[in-house]
Formats: sequence, structure tokens, C-alpha cells
Amino acid sequence: MSKADSALNAARREREIAEVSAGRVVDLVVVGLGVTGAGVALDAASRGLDVVAVDAHDVAFGTSRWSSKLVHGGLRYLAQGRLQLAHESAVERGILMSTTAPHLARPLPMLMPLLPMVSATQAQLSRGGFVAGNLLRACARTPRKTLPGPRRLNVTESLAVASGLRRDRLRGGLLFWGRSARGRRPAGGGAGPDGGGVRRPSAAEGQGAGAGRGRRGGA
Ligand SMILES: Cc1cc2nc3c(=O)[nH]c(=O)nc-3n(C[C@H](O)[C@H](O)[C@H](O)COP(=O)(O)OP(=O)(O)OC[C@H]3O[C@@H](n4cnc5c(N)ncnc54)[C@H](O)[C@@H]3O)c2cc1C
Repeated sequence: MSKADSALNAARREREIAEVSAGRVVDLVVVGLGVTGAGVALDAASRGLDVVAVDAHDVAFGTSRWSSKLVHGGLRYLAQGRLQLAHESAVERGILMSTTAPHLARPLPMLMPLLPMVSATQAQLSRGGFVAGNLLRACARTPRKTLPGPRRLNVTESLAVASGLRRDRLRGGLLFWGRSARGRRPAGGGAGPDGGGVRRPSAAEGQGAGAGRGRRGGA
């Protein structure tokens, strides 16, 4: 398939919806294009399958629209004592960051400022949680260069990270790292004429439109 043929645009979308409506047989139909369905469709298309991806509304119309897009590493499961699940999450996060989608997951520094409202006990507990998360990272064999470990920052360092912090009685901060996934719902609820293969269906198309398709060897 040439580069021009593989471009996702309104014309291609119309053409392919017409083909499918006329009974073209495909390998896989994915219903629902939140992060789960979109991931399944992408994975299948990139393996060479003919895929039709359909959403009742639009890409990421559902829960995925609200996600803060943090790539979790299982810390919450660790807090619940679900060690195996915590480990599995950390391993999957490492695969995502290093193999599947390093281009979509950027490092995200997060700072917990140690202000008067945070007691010494709370700070210690939080630090313990970050250290546990770091241990999980190490157990999952995710290198520090992919996901740096947590660090206690002094006041100057904390202000360098977040200059807007209230300085009064600031004791420093706890810096920890996560990963944030890029990619969000197209602005305005759908792609423009050349912006992609998915857009909001017109009234005439009704439910079930909003399809995009990966082609054998394409997508
Ligand atoms: C406020 C908030 C913050 C979050 N932050 C994070 C985070 O930082 N990191 C994280 O990992 N997770 C986060 N989550 C959880 C995450 O958003 C969900 O786990 C994820 O979006 C679920 O995706 P999904 O594809 O399974 O479902 P959805 O995103 O809900 O997608 C389902 C899709 O199916 C379509 N659909 C439904 N029925 C039909 C039908 N009959 N025919 C056709 N289409 C249909 C819907 O229109 C929708 O687009 C957060 C959730 C919330 C609410």
C-alpha cells in the first residue's frame, strides 16, 4: 500500500465504510474504541489483519476520555497486598515504556511539597510508598533510566521544580516519577477532513458509524 493510500482521511473513511456496508469480509470487528478497543484494533491491524473498528459515538467517548493517562505500575495493588497483580502491572508498564509504546509514554515528574499541612508521619508514610513503588520497578527489571527512582528534595530544589510553591515553612519535597501516555480524543469530537479516519457520525449514519480500519500491511 502506498503512503497516499494508507493516509487516514475522510475520503478513505467514507470509501471503507461503503465497502464494509456492501458486505466486505474482514478478519476482525472491534466494537468500542476506548483505550481497550483502540489498542486491540491497532495490535490486530499491525499484525496484518483486516480490522473494522466501530464506536457507537466516537473514539474515546467513554471512560477513556476522562483518564489522566498515567501509566500505572501496580502501586495501588501493592497497597492492597495483591503482590502478584502488582508485579504483573509493573512488568507490563516496563514493556509499554520500553517496547510497545516508548513514543507514547513520557516521563512525568511529580512533586509532593512538604508544607505545614503534611505532618512528619505523613511524609514518612508517603516516602515509604514511593520506596515500595521503586522496589516494584526494580523487581520488574525496569531500568532507572526508563523510570527514575524517588528522591527527597531540599527547599531550593523543590522551588526549582515548582516555582509557584508557597515558601512559608516549606520543608522541601518528595520527587517521584511516573509515566504519562500521550494521545487523546481528537479535538472537537472528531477529525477534520484530513485529520483522521474517525469522526462523529452524521444523523444519517446513526449508531455504529465512526469506523476506522487498518488494512493488511497498512495502518
Ligand atoms: C477520572 C478518571 C481518571 C482515570 N485515570 C486513569 C489513569 O491515569 N490511568 C489509567 O490507567 N486509567 C485511568 N482511569 C481508568 C481508565 O480511564 C479506564 O480503565 C479505561 O478508559 C477503560 O477503557 P475502555 O476502553 O475499557 O472503556 P471506555 O473508554 O469506556 O470505552 C468504551 C467505548 O465503547 C463504546 N461503546 C459502548 N457500547 C457500545 C456499543 N454497543 N457499540 C459500539 N460502541 C460502544 C463507547 O462509546 C466507548 O467509546 C481513569 C478513569 C477515570 C474515570
